[in-house]
Parts: sequence; C-alpha cells; structure tokens
Amino acid sequence: MNFSDLGLSPKVLEAITAAGYTTPTAIQAGAIPHALQRKDVLGLAQTGSGKTAAFVLPMLSMLESGRARARMPRTLILEPTRELAAQVQEAFESLGKNHKLNVALLIGGVSFEPQAAKIDRGADVVIATPGRLLDFFERGRLLMTGIEMLVIDEADRMLDMGFVPDIERICKLLPFTRQTMFFSATMPPEIQRITAQFLHNPVRVETTARGSTVDTIIQQLVKTPHDAKMKREALRQLLRTQTNVKNAIVFANRKTTVALLEKSLKTHGFNAGALHGDMDQSARLKMLTAFRNNEVTYLIASDVAARGLDIPEVSHVFNFDVPIHAEDYVHRIGRTGRAGREGHAFTMVTKEETKYLKAIETLISKEIPWFESGAAVEDTPGLVDVRTSSSRRPRKTERRVAESEVKAVSKSENAPPPKQIEAERSPKKERPARFEQRPENRNRKTDDAPDDDSFHTGNMPAFLTRR
Ligand code: AMP
Repeated sequence: MNFSDLGLSPKVLEAITAAGYTTPTAIQAGAIPHALQRKDVLGLAQTGSGKTAAFVLPMLSMLESGRARARMPRTLILEPTRELAAQVQEAFESLGKNHKLNVALLIGGVSFEPQAAKIDRGADVVIATPGRLLDFFERGRLLMTGIEMLVIDEADRMLDMGFVPDIERICKLLPFTRQTMFFSATMPPEIQRITAQFLHNPVRVETTARGSTVDTIIQQLVKTPHDAKMKREALRQLLRTQTNVKNAIVFANRKTTVALLEKSLKTHGFNAGALHGDMDQSARLKMLTAFRNNEVTYLIASDVAARGLDIPEVSHVFNFDVPIHAEDYVHRIGRTGRAGREGHAFTMVTKEETKYLKAIETLISKEIPWFESGAAVEDTPGLVDVRTSSSRRPRKTERRVAESEVKAVSKSENAPPPKQIEAERSPKKERPARFEQRPENRNRKTDDAPDDDSFHTGNMPAFLTRR
C-alpha cells in the first residue's frame, strides 16, 4: 500500500514525501481512507505506531477547503499532557508546512493571552489539554460550535489522569454533526462507555497486538528484597554488574521513590537525574536535554513523566518497581530497543510483586527469564545479593549497610524529609493504590497534570517532537 492509494490531496502527498515517509504504517493505512470519507474512527494504537500522522494527514486534506473564523476553531485535538500536545504541534509544522494553517496550542502553565490572540485570529487547528480548553470556553474566549473534526488522543491516559469528566463535557459542547477520531492503546470499560456515547458508527482500526514487545529487547527479571533500602542496594548492584550501559532509564512507580532513588544513586557516585511530574518545566527540559546529550547516564523517571518521549538511543531500562498496570511494562521497556537497536530491560521483582509480574507475562504472552548476576554480587562484602529471597530477615551487616545508607541519603543535599524515607520503609505503605485510583482522588489530575505546572514549549527541543 502506498500513500497515494489513500485518497490524500496532492499537497499532503508532497509533504509526506518531504517528511521522508515512504509507506503508510498500519494505523495510517487503516484509518486515513475512512477519515477522508468523514467517518468516525476508533483507533487502537500505541505510541510509535504512527497514529499522529493517521489523524494529522486527513485533517490537512480536509482543511484545504474552507476558512477559520475568529474564535471559532475548525478542528480540535485533545491531548493528556503538554508534551504530547507540543509533539502534535510539531507534526503539524512539518507535515502541514505547505498549508499555511493557523495552529493554536492551548496548554496550561503558559500565559493565556498569546494563546488567546491566535484564537481571536481564527484557528484552523486547536491542540489542547482539556483543562486549558475549558478555561478558554468558560472565559468566553472560544466557541466550539464551528468544530468539524475532533481528535481524542491517548484516551486511556486521559482516564488515568482523571480527565474523563472534562472530555465528556467537551464532547457535549461540540456540534453533533462533527467527525470524531478517537485513539487509545487500551480499551478499559470506562473508555468503551465513552466511545459508545460519543462516536457514531465508528470504523474500528486495530493495528498492534496490545502486549507486543520488540524482539530486539533482552528482558530479564531480578529477584529483589522487599525492604526499601536493600532494594536500592540491589539496584546499585545490578547497575554495577551491567558494564555495557550507555545510558538508562530507571522507572519507579511513585514520585517519592523517584526523588529518593535519584539522591541515593548520586550519593553512591552514580551519574543520575530525575524526571517526574512535580518538577517545573525548565527543570524537566534541562534534565531531558542532559540525558539526551549523555551528560546524565541514569534517568530516574515515573511513568507519566516519561510517556511518549522519544529518546532514540537508550541502551537499558531498569524497572525498580514492577509496574502495577501490565501495559505500563510494555511502554517502559519500549523506551529501549528502538528502531531495530538492541536494548536491555531488567525488572526488579519482590515476592510481593509477583502478582503484577504474572499479569505482565500474560499480557506479553511469554515468560521473562530470571537474571543470574554471577560472582560479582556474592563476592562484594557487606552487600546484599540481588537474588536474596525477600522473605529472609536481613543479616546484621546488611541492616547496618542499609541504615548507613538512609543516613547518607538523609544528609545529602535536598534530602527528603525523614517521613518520606519512613513511608518507603513501611511494608504496609510500600504498595499503595495508585493515587488516582483511591476513591478520594477519582477525577483528580495527578502527577504531571497539564494545567498545574508550567511547561513552556517555545524552545521545545527536537527530541520532544517525536515519539
Ligand atoms: P507516532 O506513533 O505518531 O508518535 O509516530 C512515531 C514516529 O514515527 C514519529 O517519529 C513519526 O515521525 C514516524 N512516522 C509516522 N508515520 C511514518 C511513516 N509512514 N513512515 C515512517 N515514519 C513514520
């Protein structure tokens, strides 16, 4: 199948050639012809499948006729985070460079007025996070009655971040006759409910097996003690045994663990940096640039902060915690082994986490082998064997090592308050329900909710523009 078979306009085909795309990806081949016939599309596709172009290209063709009016955008793309919104804007800049469109990016954390000025001039395309869009609407700065096409991207991530009520509200404000393209990597019941409510006879395009992992990634499991300090020591041991690390992302389930791990690793001489949703935009951008430029070797990250970012050459991924949602595992390890390169993914597993591991193995339809770390671990005095059973009580020397490590971390610059360390030590608090899953937090924006912290995209580096 060629792009010229899909029904796209000559101008769009030209832009595709200029972008260097030769063959449509499966989601593009499946979705574009239907989108051009003005049908609703339900795309089950993940980051990396080419789904952005699957909605940008037909949108460009459609926008060739007609003109935007002041405060009445013609198309709307909803994204869960500022970073993803900025990446879509970049896609418009490259694929739509022959189209002279007015594209407005409405995201939180940056000043309102320059964004409003674009809307006032008449926007062909609005790319928005839900909170900022509703803010515009409520202030009477934008009308939704002229929207001909709506794209809801990364719907399952919207659900994770508590945006479903906002999405429902927005859908009700749009004209009934609009066309909708809806993309999600997974279809939990809440997402199915929304698609049933807001899509009209959608064409379903499913491209990737939900749990498919790339064969170039060597996946391994590491038996790990449950005790938080011993677990950190186990990570350091693991990092020391891996001599071929060019750079690595270390994933943890919680923001507090990310911060603690970064300090702990730095204290122990590792070149580490952190990326989580509580960091402000300039700190995040600085960290990503440093990692990209190999100034930071170990990027300690939370799932939401790292989602969708395209860092092409990551040699290793280490999961300090087993992800609670099996699909997050596929996403995490997909940060390595990109574009046919070899990648390594290690997952540290405590006895308590084996149930999450089972769910992952079911999802990816394979058993992940256990890593045998070799003599280096056993021979290092005073250190904990990463293969130590979690049920064994630590020896006195191990406890002493662990205690001194906590002190070192506590004393280190910007050390977390003792309470935080305590929280990580307590077995009861070790695996709390995910923030947004606790009853009191349903519908609340979490981690890097787009509208609470600033992420200025004016100087967005190129690597943030691709997934
Ligand atoms: P996405 O899944 O939309 O984030 O796209 C992932 C990456 O694939 C981006 O860097 C796109 O520029 C690239 N891409 C999208 N479509 C194609 C294509 N047909 N051929 C080659 N690369 C593509």
